[in-house]
Amino acid sequence: MHEIAGNIRMLLEELPSGVSLVAVTKTRTPEEVLEAYNAGLRTFGENRVQEMAAKKLVLPPDISWHLIGHLQSNKVRQAVSTASVIESVDTLRLLRLIDDEASTQGKAIDCLLQIHIATEETKSGFSLTEARETDWSRVVSDLKAVKICGVMGMATFTEDTEKVRSEFRTLAGTFRHLRDTHFAGESCFRDISMGMSGDWQVAIEEGSTIIRVGTLIFGERIKK
Ligand SMILES: *Cc1c(COP(=O)(O)O)cnc(C)c1O
Repeated sequence: MHEIAGNIRMLLEELPSGVSLVAVTKTRTPEEVLEAYNAGLRTFGENRVQEMAAKKLVLPPDISWHLIGHLQSNKVRQAVSTASVIESVDTLRLLRLIDDEASTQGKAIDCLLQIHIATEETKSGFSLTEARETDWSRVVSDLKAVKICGVMGMATFTEDTEKVRSEFRTLAGTFRHLRDTHFAGESCFRDISMGMSGDWQVAIEEGSTIIRVGTLIFGERIKK
């Protein structure tokens, strides 16, 4: 079973410098994650807090865990103690809960603002209007432990590449707008997390700095 290592090598060869890879390990066993670790990866993404925490317990401590799925308020404590980055911050209320908890735990944590760019209802996130109209400078000045490091988004699940491209372009445009206005001077505001197994190349063409890839590395997920 050297398939995982081979898949990673092929993907990394095609990754431009400045773009980092989050290997998405939801539904994968710790053994599979360890194969990816042994192939050199140190950043992994999970969409459920409990699964992330369970894997963190049995895997090497130098792994950086990204939470990429919707976070419920009753899981904030465990999310903060487990993750180094929460990519799926989708409300101001959640952002403040994370900040309070991180401050209580004495832990600095990086967050990305998830922005809703798809036409599907199922994908959560700030609307484009909310993202552009929120007074982020004010929000940021109240934060004690959280740093906002950029944006995250998921395109519509479709074969229509031009639709996907236009959604990614919208996300990148929103990122630049925020960077140049509310977040001007915030040097940590620099990431655009977009692109998965089916659309990572388009995402990179549109300015992605973080891609989140599961299937291309580990194979198809068995649906539960
Ligand atoms: C599952 C998931 C991914 C990875 O999806 P693949 O198609 O397996 O690469 C990326 N981002 C999020 C938010 C996910 O839930």
